[in-house]
Amino acid sequence: MLLKIEDLSVSFRNDDGDVNAAAIDVNLELERGEVLGLVGESGSGKSTVSMSVARLLPSPPAFYPKGRILFDGEDMLSMKLEDLRKKRGKKIGVVFQDPMGSLSPLHRISDQLVETILLHEDMSKKAANDMALEWLGKVGIRNVPVIAKAYPHELSGGMQQRVMIAMGLMLGPDLVIADEPTTALDVTVQAQVLKLMKDLHQANSGVLLITHDLGVVSQMATKLAVMKNGRVIEKSDNPAEFFASPKHPYSQSLIREARKMELEY
Ligand code: ADP
Ligand code: MG
Repeated sequence: MLLKIEDLSVSFRNDDGDVNAAAIDVNLELERGEVLGLVGESGSGKSTVSMSVARLLPSPPAFYPKGRILFDGEDMLSMKLEDLRKKRGKKIGVVFQDPMGSLSPLHRISDQLVETILLHEDMSKKAANDMALEWLGKVGIRNVPVIAKAYPHELSGGMQQRVMIAMGLMLGPDLVIADEPTTALDVTVQAQVLKLMKDLHQANSGVLLITHDLGVVSQMATKLAVMKNGRVIEKSDNPAEFFASPKHPYSQSLIREARKMELEY
């Protein structure tokens, strides 16, 4: 099993000491070759779970009262920071909704890609630079030499997201975590970016795809889980069947809402 989340609970403690249970008794499994779609309305705990997998939540305020996150059999929650750093980027690639939050504003695009490559791969700077440029091309960036020398804020949102995808996928991670990877983009660009992610992730990697957009899930996911108020309330290994006959009333209402929105377009 590539990823096994067992009875995971994640809470946040605020400045007053109050505790907010953001994820409660979550159980999820992901094999290589699968795309697990995690859906649910805003605030249901999707990002809390996905960020926990890469141990990217600031802690404090986050803490883990319960559970394990087994990545290739190793518990991410008890892993040393040094080992975590080795996993991130190389074994676990992340693509987030807000690329500006993940790209450094101070460094040129190619330099950021090269730095990530050199952190994990034993290769020359020249080879790393070639690889970075190659990946900018792969994610559909046309004027690569210009974009490579640009700073993140000089790019459009769609371009930034393409760079994030290159960053997340270029080292061939076993697990890709994509949290609302297209939510901030124009509808036309969304489809292109999704296609890219579909084409570029390795066939034997597992993808944890977080989205509130059921259309995205129906296009991409091989299995899915629905979250509500921090809990997984329904899981399905057969998305087509799920969309045809959702069991939980909340899943039914999610699908109804999504259909209504589609009609309004
Ligand atoms: P989703 O991704 O489904 O929209 P989140 O996981 O972001 O949901 O949020 C779940 C709950 O956790 C919310 O109540 C949110 O306020 C809380 N939360 C998320 N991140 C933090 C944080 N860094 N500090 C405090 N509370 C947080
Ligand atoms: Mg979120």
